[in-house]
Amino acid sequence: MVVVMRSDATEKDIENVARHLEKYGIDPLVVKGAEQATIQMRGDEKKVPQDEIEELPGVEKVIFISKPYKFASREYMPEGRKINISKNITIGKDFLIMAGPCAVESRDMILKTAEHVKKNGAHILRGGAFKPRTQPGMFEGLGEEALKYLAEARDLHGLPVVTEIMDAADIALFEKYDVDIYQVGARNAKNYRLLDALSRINKPVLLKRGEQMNYADWLLSAERILYGGNENVILCERGTATAATNGYTRNMLDLEAIAVIRKNSSLPIIIDPSHAVGSSELIPTACYMAATGLADGIIVEVHPNPAEALCDGKQSLNFEQFKEMAKNAMSIYNYAKNIVEK
Ligand code: PEP
Ligand code: MN
Repeated sequence: MVVVMRSDATEKDIENVARHLEKYGIDPLVVKGAEQATIQMRGDEKKVPQDEIEELPGVEKVIFISKPYKFASREYMPEGRKINISKNITIGKDFLIMAGPCAVESRDMILKTAEHVKKNGAHILRGGAFKPRTQPGMFEGLGEEALKYLAEARDLHGLPVVTEIMDAADIALFEKYDVDIYQVGARNAKNYRLLDALSRINKPVLLKRGEQMNYADWLLSAERILYGGNENVILCERGTATAATNGYTRNMLDLEAIAVIRKNSSLPIIIDPSHAVGSSELIPTACYMAATGLADGIIVEVHPNPAEALCDGKQSLNFEQFKEMAKNAMSIYNYAKNIVEK
């Protein structure tokens, strides 16, 4: 059970509810969110009379949540979370296309890519500044220089920017360039120190699913960010590692995740086909499947010249491929949404 306090509840009201719960042998856990406080219960909640708690001053409602992830659960916010990225971009409402290179390689390439993807249907620009490369010695991104180019591309083309944060020590740098969405990569999906640090900022966090992460662990990582007070978490399915792919694809894209997350969680979910299927000729189909399943969006790698890319060239769409895919994916989404809503 979780007691949700009204936004105008006083410290005294919160204290009073906590003392009441203690009377029933509950160890109360007060969590102060940006808008309102909640009180979670550790102990045998069956002993707590719900009506009595609901009558206490400052209490908005008492809800039953059996899952270990409370704030991320569907029960906590049955209507689903909407996350504002900019004045006219909200995740959880429309189908959003995030596109751009795996890594920002130069000012010229990111500006060129931003211009193209914006003209052809992208809502958000992606581009790595800090790249977690499996093999040491490979190109690991331009760092701060890339953040500067991304900010320039955003200002020039009106595209909010998503880029990966690998280390909490870089938050100040991300703030300096006003990064719009902080991506947590698959490798860091269980880096609790990083997640805790991101729970204390107010910017949207795009949390990728770890390579072999089950749903509960993924949602508990999201919970960690919500728990610390950052309400803006977006989940991103990017394929899980399994022998079943047999080298035919890089990872297995789990599209069931759209339905599973919708049922269990209020968080928006987007699909990353690039790191899942891993080769450009398979990407459009995977994007269309994400659109058919009414995901909240996709994030796709696009490069002006994939053959020359310093990172993930094999899975990057060229400009023409992106243009066609984005147009089709949007039509498919609108068509499917129309049918499902009827
Ligand atoms: C990326 O987005 O370029 C990336 C490294 O993704 P992932 O963390 O999913 O491997
Ligand atoms: Mn990549």
